[in-house]
Amino acid sequence: MSKSDLNCSFCGRPKSETQLLIAGLDAHICDRCINQAHGIVLEETSEEVSNSETIELKPPKEIKAFLDEYIIGQELSKRVLSVAVYNHYKRLIQDKSKENKVEIQKSNVLMVGPTGTGKTLLAQTISRFLKVPLAIVDATILTEAGYVGEDVESILSRLLQAADYDVERAQRGIVFIDEIDKIARKSDNPSITRDVSGEGVQQALLKLLEGALVNVPPKGGRKHPDQKFIEVDTSNILFIAGGAFDGIDTYITKRLNLQAIGYKTAVDQRDLDKENILQYLTPRDVRSFGLIPEIIGRLPVLTYMSALDEQALRLILTTPKNALIKQYIHLFKMDGIELQFTSGALDYIVEKALQYDLGARGLRSLCEAILNDAMFELPNTKTKKLKVSKQYADQKLTKIELPKLKVVS
Ligand code: ADP
Repeated sequence: MSKSDLNCSFCGRPKSETQLLIAGLDAHICDRCINQAHGIVLEETSEEVSNSETIELKPPKEIKAFLDEYIIGQELSKRVLSVAVYNHYKRLIQDKSKENKVEIQKSNVLMVGPTGTGKTLLAQTISRFLKVPLAIVDATILTEAGYVGEDVESILSRLLQAADYDVERAQRGIVFIDEIDKIARKSDNPSITRDVSGEGVQQALLKLLEGALVNVPPKGGRKHPDQKFIEVDTSNILFIAGGAFDGIDTYITKRLNLQAIGYKTAVDQRDLDKENILQYLTPRDVRSFGLIPEIIGRLPVLTYMSALDEQALRLILTTPKNALIKQYIHLFKMDGIELQFTSGALDYIVEKALQYDLGARGLRSLCEAILNDAMFELPNTKTKKLKVSKQYADQKLTKIELPKLKVVS
């Protein structure tokens, strides 16, 4: 065979039609086929890299240990969420391999508990652990399509923004819907009038929660005809909904009382822990409160958050990885100032937060109020040490009206 008779063994082109023909043991390959093969190699390996980057399945205990570093108390919710997240990402991996025909349902979560008890913090910490984008949305801004307010699709616009418009990443992200209780059905008879901000929104949310292909306006807000949409598949997005559900305890108590009268004395009335009635929460109570059954069905993992007591608030001040006091010590250190708090000062801050019903959010406002003068005056002075005692804190706080702190969150 003369050199001019040679062909590419892959595409069959004769040597004359190629720019380069490389010889192997028993075959030849042309420049075009090399380029094509190179493209395939890049595509395959980059997919492998991004899959392994985004989904690294960690066992629930490891997830919980991470949550423990940031969240005080709320043991049940941390456990429940760790398992939900674990199962959710197992489901994602299963989708990929298709080796198992059992369809695992989504583990969307509903968290019930007073404000400022760490619901948002839990969602944030989980997204940090998983390194997936997180969108936090307030259910109260959502309305049924065609009414003033934002369409439910705007939730996904936020997630896209959080993912820097990387659709793949967004599709594996987490959405935290806050104040879900505010879209509860207001009346027991839904047919009388249209309930724009309540049941209508719940209906609109259903398809998102379940998993659907949704056309999302990239910039959010309302849809309009000339807008370009990005298609987002919500089947692998983890939805966590949270709400205070003020007054749900009356539904729980009512149900428990009825059970006691009937034969189903699941919980003996004498053993009822009335201080912590949320522990008896069931989906039925959420339904009585006004969430429609379909929504409850799509948020199958139900958990509750306890109100934070004195001990919890004290720990929140100092122990989490990014605890407030640690943050202030660091801020002062950057100015070369050693900041210290006496134990009495810390107790005092907690006492004030409880006294004025400011909760965990109030701790920040209180610290800010106590330290503001020092943070203003001390930089670039000779002072190299500040010790905050109960007396110092009290003196700074008497200058302000404490109840006003409530609005600072
Ligand atoms: P929620 O979403 O339940 O209203 P957040 O998660 O927004 O409450 O809590 C507000 C702030 O209070 C958090 O950023 C955090 O600083 C603090 N906080 C609340 N609960 C906890 C907790 N259990 N552990 C640590 N910090 C908490």
